[in-house]
Amino acid sequence: MGESRCPMCGLPLIEDAWEVFEENDKDGSILLDSFSALVCPGECGYYVRLSGGTHED
Ligand SMILES: [Zn+2]
Repeated sequence: MGESRCPMCGLPLIEDAWEVFEENDKDGSILLDSFSALVCPGECGYYVRLSGGTHED
């Protein structure tokens, strides 16, 4: 199985637990969303969500 590479800078992606803060537009509250992701170790900030969270894709 080939490893995934960052489409931005070509570095091998690392599977990791990832967390993002999301602001709720309705009431301005901040939600912490955590999920498994493939994360670029470089400085481009690229990641792709693997599972968890509430988004459809
Ligand atoms: Zn990258």
